Amino acid sequence: ERTALKAYKDVVPKLANGTVVEVAANLGSLEEIDAAREAGAMGVGLFRTELLFMRHMHLPSEDMQAEIYGTLAKAFAPAPVIVRTLDIGGDKPIAGIEFPAEENPFLGWRGIRMCLDRPDIFKQQLRALMRAAVHGNVKVMLPMVSQLSEVARTRELIAECGAELKERGVPFGQFELGVMIETPAAVLIARELAKDVAFFSIGTNDLTQYVMAADRLNPTVAGLNDVSNPAVMAAIEMTARAGTEAGIMVGMCGEAAGRPDLIPEFLRMGLTELSMSPASIPRAKKVIVELAEAAK
Ligand code: PEP
Ligand code: MG
Repeated sequence: ERTALKAYKDVVPKLANGTVVEVAANLGSLEEIDAAREAGAMGVGLFRTELLFMRHMHLPSEDMQAEIYGTLAKAFAPAPVIVRTLDIGGDKPIAGIEFPAEENPFLGWRGIRMCLDRPDIFKQQLRALMRAAVHGNVKVMLPMVSQLSEVARTRELIAECGAELKERGVPFGQFELGVMIETPAAVLIARELAKDVAFFSIGTNDLTQYVMAADRLNPTVAGLNDVSNPAVMAAIEMTARAGTEAGIMVGMCGEAAGRPDLIPEFLRMGLTELSMSPASIPRAKKVIVELAEAAK
């Protein structure tokens, strides 16, 4: 079984109509690059930057971040690497940022909300990403988006970062900007968001907890935390429709993206990118290939 799956390492899975499905890896550090390539990752669909911030006793510098994102981009070039901007909240405190005590951290000051309130930290990361874009196909996505204004404000900060790098004489490139769809608010404004961004990536871990109003860490309500619940699947389908109608890429980077039982449904909805733990990649490719063969 294991060896049979190995045969999919270099396979580029396509739908019956010829559309390539990007099967990408979710990574949290550079140490995981080799395993992802070995598994046959066609790029990185989610690079979580939290670990980088949590590992140290101080905030990582712009130079250090530029180096790390650049290394990641080079390792997969010309394939895309989607780096998610800092997605941290009061539940996972880090050195260098003071978080308020919150009764409901999952409904609180986290992700893009925190970043927009701390432009000093956010702009350091954005400048590092612009510098890394010179070395490969870097894309950037924003977590926990719930309003159009968050994207607009981020674009303003990106423009400022470009001017600052130019003044410093530091080489930089442009990156595509996308958003994670992981709040019900983002689903409900997906048509408007789709006009504003280059891609969507559905974060089913959070989307499930917010649609179902069931804390993803609370075992007592684990039964409700089910992505295949019709309410969650409806939210995913609405997102897919809004994105495909606007002509932007719709992908998924929550754990559900690697579920063999749900992949056919996600492809039917129009998703063309699925990002998952490296271990899930070979089987996902197999499912897609076999589905296309069965449709012929
Ligand atoms: C998600 O919410 O689905 C996701 C991919 O992000 P995280 O699990 O890091 O919150
Ligand atoms: Mg999330």
